[in-house]
Amino acid sequence: MPARVRGGTWRSWGGNLSAEPAVTVRPAGSDQVLAVLADAARTGLRVRPAGSGHSCSPLVPTGDALLDTSALTGLVSVDEEHQRVTVFAGTTLQELNLVLEEHGLALANLPDSSHMTVGGAIATGTHGTGLGQPSLGGQVIGVSMVTPGGDVVSCSESHRPDLLAAARTHLGVLGVLVSVTLQCVNAFRLHCAEFREPLDPLLDTLQERMSAADHVEFSWMPGTTTAHTRILSRLHRLPDEYTRPASPISRALRRADDAVLRTSLTAGLGRVGNLLPRAVNGLNRIESLAESSRRYTDVSYRVFTVARPVRYVSAEYGLPLENTVPAFRELRTLVEAHGYDLSFPLTVRCSPPDPALLSPAAGRYTGWINLRQYGKRPRQSFLTAAEQILVDHGGRPHWGTLHTRTAADLAPCYPRWEDFLAARAELDPEGLLLNEHTRTLLGV
Ligand SMILES: Cc1cc2nc3c(=O)[nH]c(=O)nc-3n(C[C@H](O)[C@H](O)[C@H](O)COP(=O)(O)OP(=O)(O)OC[C@H]3O[C@@H](n4cnc5c(N)ncnc54)[C@H](O)[C@@H]3O)c2cc1C
Repeated sequence: MPARVRGGTWRSWGGNLSAEPAVTVRPAGSDQVLAVLADAARTGLRVRPAGSGHSCSPLVPTGDALLDTSALTGLVSVDEEHQRVTVFAGTTLQELNLVLEEHGLALANLPDSSHMTVGGAIATGTHGTGLGQPSLGGQVIGVSMVTPGGDVVSCSESHRPDLLAAARTHLGVLGVLVSVTLQCVNAFRLHCAEFREPLDPLLDTLQERMSAADHVEFSWMPGTTTAHTRILSRLHRLPDEYTRPASPISRALRRADDAVLRTSLTAGLGRVGNLLPRAVNGLNRIESLAESSRRYTDVSYRVFTVARPVRYVSAEYGLPLENTVPAFRELRTLVEAHGYDLSFPLTVRCSPPDPALLSPAAGRYTGWINLRQYGKRPRQSFLTAAEQILVDHGGRPHWGTLHTRTAADLAPCYPRWEDFLAARAELDPEGLLLNEHTRTLLGV
């Protein structure tokens, strides 16, 4: 039987959510997952799977049974010839990146953190940036899951592709994912250019910049007139001697720069801002000066991901690409008109159309606008007003971030909404995997 932890408190990474499940179970394989689901069905408990708790929307919290996936980890198989890997679903992206590196492989695109699990990340449509490279769910080519009915169900591009399209953004409501197969690419290096530039000309040319760069994002700190831009270029076409990865010394210097200037300073200024909200915009100007230009090359996953030791919660929306700049300009006007004292920048990224039925990027080129908030001090009035702007511009919420949308708002945004509901009803007719939040989201 899987390990049981009775009465343990579950907390989200951002600190905004907690739960007291009646029981926490930590299965180590599909047999144990089957046993957990059978046990739960018998005792009338509902089950919510949990990854690394990096979602700040209440997808995980339950008072019933929490299924901790942290023992469902590691490599299942690797096919170097076809550049495919299968891992257990509780494997973190960090662990996956290291396994892939050993085999000369990499994921084509990654989010900016590697602490989430594979199963948890694809549940919410987790994305990186770059119009030419897929989100995480777009790199998934097979899934194996245990359903509440006691079946082990697999899907791939050739076997039940309809189910694969649902599983690519599954919200944890189709089954407990045991393993995931991902299409990889040859390991590659990225060159990163980070620099500060005036915000207005950047906004005027953003769409061209997004089309031209492999991966681009920018952040704007309220109270300033400049943006911090990050452009990543894929270097796999150049021979090693031109694109040598960072030496251990330059890597260490970069980490020191991350730790001292970009993290400790942010954390310190955040704490000061927490005590003196009126000073926040001035503090933001100090912080933006500290983020100097820098350029470096390294193996791809070390460049895609950035250190995030300062905890926060975020609200993120995916918008039709062409609406991203108008929505951003309205958000800027909102922040400036109300003098909101935000301690984190607004960040903009982009991604291509996603094949997942419920990905916020489903069927359209997408611009993402992310609003981060200090975990203990979210500005609800700002989030409410900002959400209205994002919705008015055709935005769909990132499932793992703060939002107030319900099934009535969401269903018209997704052309294949009913197909997802049908897949869910087939795999979990009794709703054993649902909690209050997922019921509200799906209207079931
Ligand atoms: C620091 C940080 C950086 C982030 N960066 C990005 C980013 O760059 N891009 C982006 O798009 N998002 C980003 N996010 C959001 C994050 O990717 C998502 O919230 C993701 O879903 C978190 O994964 P997790 O492993 O923590 O899953 P959890 O938050 O624990 O769970 C998420 C969902 O997955 C389900 N689930 C987990 N494991 C399984 C399983 N094995 N079977 C079935 N269901 C399961 C849960 O029930 C839940 O519904 C970031 C979040 C943080 C805190």
